[in-house]
Amino acid sequence: MIFIKKPKFKDAYSRPRHEMVKKQIAARGIIDPRVIAVMEELPRHLFVPQEFGGKAYADCPLPIGEKQTISQPFMVAFMTELLDLKGNEKVLEIGTGSGYQTAVLCKLAEQVYSVERIPSLLVKARKTLESLNIHNAGLKVFDGTMGWKDYAPYDAIMVTAGGPEAPKPLMDQLKPGGRLIMPIGGKTQQVLHMLVKTDSGIKTTTHSLCTFVNLIGEYGWKENGNG
Ligand code: SAH
Repeated sequence: MIFIKKPKFKDAYSRPRHEMVKKQIAARGIIDPRVIAVMEELPRHLFVPQEFGGKAYADCPLPIGEKQTISQPFMVAFMTELLDLKGNEKVLEIGTGSGYQTAVLCKLAEQVYSVERIPSLLVKARKTLESLNIHNAGLKVFDGTMGWKDYAPYDAIMVTAGGPEAPKPLMDQLKPGGRLIMPIGGKTQQVLHMLVKTDSGIKTTTHSLCTFVNLIGEYGWKENGNG
């Protein structure tokens, strides 16, 4: 039984947010208290387009424009918990999107670098993060399958778009002992993979089936849709 601290109901969305954490996240087995606390705190409704504000705490992904989506809350919690962040890590995220997952990572790690290929999404995400006084994220528009070499190596890498394989540049930019989490598989369905860089090679574990938008780039799918 997990004890979830009673929220202070600071905004109009505090109650649905608390319900989200209780029913979609804690009830489905997320136990890391830091992950639970941050999802209880972060105003997810500020990361979705205004017309979807009422659905911000629903159990599903939502459109954020440019044919992209903000991930389902449970998926954010699940992937974040798998990274097992303690607070002193340097994390690379591929696929900034709305910036919600970026914000979660910023609260749980020391420094986050996040790469997005669609400029308009990045501009919006930057504004939202700034409005929440989150300043430990470096953001840039780039093909994230190439990673972000300037700040490598990273303790952890999270890819929030689905690709055919873990991009080699990302594995190269991971510290020894570092972990990468990413949906790997086909264009319409993937399996969540965790890859850990160990002295004796890469250790892979697989988790749930999932459906993410496509990772498009040099080491991902090609934009014209024929892979
Ligand atoms: N973490 C995001 C999820 C956004 S969906 C959120 O919480 O909102 C995945 C994002 O990955 C999309 O915005 C898409 O444009 C982006 N993406 C796809 N391929 C990419 C690539 N090669 N480099 C950077 N971003 C990419």
